[in-house]
Amino acid sequence: MQYRIGKGIYCGILWGTLLICVTAILAAVWLLFLPHTCNQPQASVDAESESESEATGFLAVLQGETAQLSIAGDWHSTDETIAAVDDTGLVTGIRQGTCQLRSEDACLQVAVRLLETCVGCTYVDGILIVNKSYGLPEDYDPGLQPIAETAFEELSVDAAAEGLDIYIGSSYRSYAYQVEIYNNYSALYGWEQADTFSARLGHSEHQTGLTIDCNTINDEFGETPEAAWLAQHCAEYGFIIRFPEGKENITGYQYEPWHIRYVGKETAKEIQKYNLTLEEYLGVTSEYDTSWQG
Ligand SMILES: [Zn+2]
Repeated sequence: MQYRIGKGIYCGILWGTLLICVTAILAAVWLLFLPHTCNQPQASVDAESESESEATGFLAVLQGETAQLSIAGDWHSTDETIAAVDDTGLVTGIRQGTCQLRSEDACLQVAVRLLETCVGCTYVDGILIVNKSYGLPEDYDPGLQPIAETAFEELSVDAAAEGLDIYIGSSYRSYAYQVEIYNNYSALYGWEQADTFSARLGHSEHQTGLTIDCNTINDEFGETPEAAWLAQHCAEYGFIIRFPEGKENITGYQYEPWHIRYVGKETAKEIQKYNLTLEEYLGVTSEYDTSWQG
């Protein structure tokens, strides 16, 4: 019995020592790698935020739809549950959210958007979209919306402080009034020409009550210091130049330096930063699906 107890104690000491040694070795190894493992998440966070600012482009795609990148290659998605990309550069929007697409020498900021319709209006990630693809119902009649009106007042006051006169030339237009305008242009120039500068019934952004035509609607406005100030500063007040120069094939409209649309400051600044149209920012098109039958 004594012998067995003695052997037990001996074994206990042996195992105990062994355990202490193993623990000490593990602790030493852990200490050796401690700075590395602690720094790793920090380092990757830094890399993430660095590359966020390094993103050289922007791509939006609707959830459940695809978009084609112009360059095929070694793209990969930082979150494949949001957006997936294949070797041909075909991007699929999986679920609403943002991530990045990266290749060896490029980085794209990607937004997968959710398109919803509500009482005949179309919203993409909550932003009301009206263009050639998406219209408004006849009874959508909000007038100039206070949020846009207030933002414009601030813009106008700040411009005046710099000696510039920016005022509302035209803002809200009803469905019925737009019908009149379009029909007149269509009779004068033919519908194909009219479509490049005037909206068909239900397709005028002026009906949203979020759009303002500044000062005078003519091409000379583009040459004024007011137009230059507007282009440079309107995003600070939540507006975008809705139909920019050189993007006519995307918006479906001629360049209109006077036509601004309220989208909110954050959205406007992101659109300005990446030099986008609202269509590109939301991942939608602007095309009528039929020729004019009026
Ligand atoms: Zn306009």
